Amino acid sequence: MVVGKSLQDSVAVLPGVGPKRVQALSELKITTIADLLHYFPFRYEDLKVVDLNEAADQEKVTLKGTVVSDPIVSRFGRGRNRLNVRLLIEHDVIMVTFFNQPWLKDKFVTGAEVAIYGKWDAKRKSLTGMKVLAVKNSSNPAFASIYSVSKNIHQSTLVKLIRDAFTSYQDCISDIIPAALQQKYRLLSEKATIAGMHFPKTQQEANAARRTAIFEEFFLFQMTMQLVKQREQAPQEGMVVAYDNQKLRAFIKTLPFELTNAQKRVVNEICRDLKSVKHMNRLLQGDVGSGKTIVAAIVMYAAVTAGLQAALMAPTEILAEQHYKNLTKLFAPFNVKIVLLTGSTKTKVRKEILAGLAAGTVQMIIGTHALIQKGVDFADLGLAITDEQHRFGVNQRRILREKGYRPDILAMTATPIPRTLAITAFGEMDVSTIDELPAGRIPIKTSWIRSNQVPNALTFMQKELAKHNQAYVITPLIEESESMDLKNAQEIYQNMQLAFEPTYQVGLLHGQMKADEKESVMADFKANDFQVLVATTVIEVGVDVPNATTMLIFDADRFGLSQLHQLRGRIGRGKAASFCILVADPKNQTGIERMQVMTETNDGFKVSQKDLELRGPGDVLGEKQSGMPEFKVGDPVADFAVLETAQLEAQKLLTNNNLDLPANEQLKAYLEHETKAYQNLD
Ligand code: ADP
Ligand code: MG
Repeated sequence: MVVGKSLQDSVAVLPGVGPKRVQALSELKITTIADLLHYFPFRYEDLKVVDLNEAADQEKVTLKGTVVSDPIVSRFGRGRNRLNVRLLIEHDVIMVTFFNQPWLKDKFVTGAEVAIYGKWDAKRKSLTGMKVLAVKNSSNPAFASIYSVSKNIHQSTLVKLIRDAFTSYQDCISDIIPAALQQKYRLLSEKATIAGMHFPKTQQEANAARRTAIFEEFFLFQMTMQLVKQREQAPQEGMVVAYDNQKLRAFIKTLPFELTNAQKRVVNEICRDLKSVKHMNRLLQGDVGSGKTIVAAIVMYAAVTAGLQAALMAPTEILAEQHYKNLTKLFAPFNVKIVLLTGSTKTKVRKEILAGLAAGTVQMIIGTHALIQKGVDFADLGLAITDEQHRFGVNQRRILREKGYRPDILAMTATPIPRTLAITAFGEMDVSTIDELPAGRIPIKTSWIRSNQVPNALTFMQKELAKHNQAYVITPLIEESESMDLKNAQEIYQNMQLAFEPTYQVGLLHGQMKADEKESVMADFKANDFQVLVATTVIEVGVDVPNATTMLIFDADRFGLSQLHQLRGRIGRGKAASFCILVADPKNQTGIERMQVMTETNDGFKVSQKDLELRGPGDVLGEKQSGMPEFKVGDPVADFAVLETAQLEAQKLLTNNNLDLPANEQLKAYLEHETKAYQNLD
């Protein structure tokens, strides 16, 4: 350790880093020297000059030659231009083209030698230039690290800062990974890893560093998660919810159906947690339609019988209202004070609700994000539930949790998480799974058609409607603009009116409607006042209209598979057979496979596993919404074996209580810091 210097020093200590750069770096989440040293490149470019006959078609290469023509800049299209210059390489003349970088003109003087990195087109003997490299400068590395940067900070600036930081702080870098693990898995030292990641001389060197970096990232992540979990579950920290078992049984008896075995099992798992001093932090996953709501209702009632309050937060107003109505009905005979709080709750009502919550007269509250706003204070919150939890950010879930004195937490999701992701995304949670649908459900039949077959689909829908069933028509997902989204929905709405009216009535539901408008549309649809509902994805989660049996989804290939699965979960809720028709004209093999998966399985786990294989974890879980940690080096899918090993080793270390060994001093210090940050920021 060097006196006076620490990796926790601010980047501001580096030469050339003033307030502006500090700001630019902080946008990349770099504030300390340690952050900077761990800001690894996402790829490398081999800048070593190659012979022309070694250059492979469509590969990126560096070529060196003599300028033999004056550079010419020509303009085309709006504000676009290209720069052409000829190079002589041995006996060949090649054409080099740079797009939209006219200023490079000055770099090409006839007769001068230049080296250019770019993409080689062998047929045309031309190079699409990406970089002009200095020929003489021998310190020019042959292997360049490429970092992801923002527009406020240059690639070259970052490279320089990392070099400076490494030069002056390398003696501060010490090993965090226990030596025993380093040996067991033949890992590099921390210092060698950092050097190898940033300044490799060969691809092999980069690979070796990367191997260690991945292990380190996963291992430290697992250690952090498991420690947090251990602490959360430490006795005396949780809340004992001493519920009244008899009352609970009496309530379950009043339900209009028998619980499935899976529902009974998860109710027991949750109740066991409630009763114990252990702080519950549990994920309840179950496919669409598996009956999670009723489980939520039962355990909320458990909290109420213990004299505590329970909260249920849903991602949309439609869903919150539906839950509210459901629960109000279920608890009508039980004298439970239930309220609904959403963004459109009137000020006066809101005031009453808040007063009731604070006084403890309100026992159950259902709501949207409105629940986690300032001013919503509980007398004694015992259980906080999020429905469709993947639609909330980690922070939103945390705020809800902090509304009480460490209430028990239940997060429900219908986006089943493959095991591969579960251990990463929810490393700190226990998982309960409803792996059984209520009896008597007829599996949804899904088919895929091309857009020119839509007329046939409409004819089919006519027949279904004639059986007094109802239908959804889902409009394409247009993320770019809300107004486009609306325009599209309105267009489809008109087409559906033409197709079905006057025999059947058509309604429209879109994201820009006010909450009460949405609610009245849903209520009318549920009451069968109209038979066809044209809807954007606002309909996606949770909504329950058992009489709807057909769903037509336009541009289905624009949706994530899990999202399609959620959407089609809106049908198949009644006694009649249900049909989901996907309209899509996929352009590539992946697109075709994705549609085929949907037609082949109704199993949400299989759907999301397949989605994972085809598109990667971000898309499956919906990016940051999911609480999915963002790994910088490792890929939880591609590097799954490493992830599992890291998890195992972390577990071993903790169960053997090895963290206090002197050999693990660095690791312990690191984790102190990390777990604090985790608990503060979540
Ligand atoms: P999800 O898990 O998708 O949230 P819901 O809780 O909305 O599912 O339940 C779907 C439908 O199944 C609801 O209409 C609900 O009343 C019904 N349901 C739930 N549990 C059972 C059961 N054990 N038997 C029959 N129907 C059930
Ligand atoms: Mg639900």
